[in-house]
Amino acid sequence: MKANYINGLWREGQTTTADINPSDLSDKIDDFAVAEAQDVADAVAAAREAQPGWAGLTPQVRADILETVGREIVERKQELGDLLAREEGKTLAEGIGEVNRAGQIFKYFAGEALRCEGGLIDSIRPGVAVEVTRQAVGVVGAITPWNFPSAIPAWKIAPALAFGNAVVLKPAEWAPASAWALVEICSRTDMPAGVLNLVMGPGRESGAALVANPDLDAMSFTGSQATGAAIAKTCLENHTKFQLEMGGKNPLVIVDDADLDQAVQVAVNGAYFSSGQRCTASSRLIVTEGIHDRFVGKLKAALAGLVVGDARDPQTHIGPVIDGSQLERIMAYIERGRREGADLVFGGDRVKAATEGHYVAPTLFCNTDNSMVINREEIFGPVATVQCVKNYEEALAVANDSEFGLSAGICTTSLKFANHFKRHAQAGMIMVNLPTAGVDYHVPFGGIKHSSFGHREQGREAIGFYTSVKTTYVGG
Ligand code: NAD
Repeated sequence: MKANYINGLWREGQTTTADINPSDLSDKIDDFAVAEAQDVADAVAAAREAQPGWAGLTPQVRADILETVGREIVERKQELGDLLAREEGKTLAEGIGEVNRAGQIFKYFAGEALRCEGGLIDSIRPGVAVEVTRQAVGVVGAITPWNFPSAIPAWKIAPALAFGNAVVLKPAEWAPASAWALVEICSRTDMPAGVLNLVMGPGRESGAALVANPDLDAMSFTGSQATGAAIAKTCLENHTKFQLEMGGKNPLVIVDDADLDQAVQVAVNGAYFSSGQRCTASSRLIVTEGIHDRFVGKLKAALAGLVVGDARDPQTHIGPVIDGSQLERIMAYIERGRREGADLVFGGDRVKAATEGHYVAPTLFCNTDNSMVINREEIFGPVATVQCVKNYEEALAVANDSEFGLSAGICTTSLKFANHFKRHAQAGMIMVNLPTAGVDYHVPFGGIKHSSFGHREQGREAIGFYTSVKTTYVGG
């Protein structure tokens, strides 16, 4: 059994959840301890006790520890990437890429620990100086989803620790092994006991207990909209600072003047890689009528060349989806699309592989319109829709007609369209001739509208959430 990590000690649970390989349901990775309410309370109390000492160390100490963690993650990216692919169903290359990114995030925030800057400003009053400084928020809870089980815990833990906070991490119950490995690496550094704690288990129990803890100063959440809304409510009641990163229904606009081969590549990558289980997936392909038929023809041909299979087989392009319930949900959306009158032009079925797993064929609907449920709700699987529109102006209007606003892309060779889209697409991240998914680790990440709430994550923006600003007036 893999135990929870509380106050520097590994604590087994009375019950466990099993981490199952979605590519091969006969392969159990391990059992993971479920944190009871008392475990969560102990973890928060340990973090509270440890936090002032951690914040009081010099930033060099914190930087060195984060650097050590980042280095080990990068050195072990092959092994940890394999574990990630095994528990989550991403291809091996994607798993290794994600682990490498997690390591780089730690290394990046090692540097940021040393750049926690403030300011000195002349007062409007004579003989008074004004200092603006930043200090740690305190005890931070982090709740993370299963679809980036290494990178998302890293992009919350690393900045929180860099700026002197203590952390209680609750990873997703469907893929806890990658987060456990990350915490295990941290546990072997000089980080004092209680600074980083791990509590695992179901969201409604272990997660809810963490959010409800009144001694939490801040909560950083990534996951679905419904969970985000529930967490926001509790945080408001408790006066806990919070940030939410949630779903997307990301448009990719393909204009008549796009480079056709590039557009197809961008769409395949954005919509189908990682089995479409990315908040930034290009799930709505909005195509102007002059290129529509050629684009759909080439896209179908490209989909026919994709191999669906075991995530760790190097031949595989599309691994399984995470879980049986997720698979059922995706199949229900496919059925819904059919009933709504969309043309199913590719896929739509489960796929049989050498082992029993949660495999779905890459699926494409054409002749859809933006009012259909398959164009409004996040499916979170290898399913994309095409909407044919008259021109760029209509494409932009359709792209923006969504409650979500995480990422938006355009394929065009025209500077005019690209520039206009950059300014007017309603999303936190804009991609020109690139998939809507796939981002750098050292720049801000996040959306607008119902996709996100609160401070941006990652890059230099991360400091906004993990510190609070203090303004000090000094008289003579
Ligand atoms: P989810 O909301 O079901 O679960 C996310 C986390 O919240 C898990 O750790 C879960 O255990 C926990 N949780 C669930 N209910 C809870 C509760 N009542 N109280 C406290 N914690 C609770 O989401 P998921 O299915 O794991 O992830 C998929 C979703 O995440 C998609 O909607 C996707 O778009 C989104 N996502 C967003 C981003 C982003 O940065 N915008 C990144 C990745 C995934």
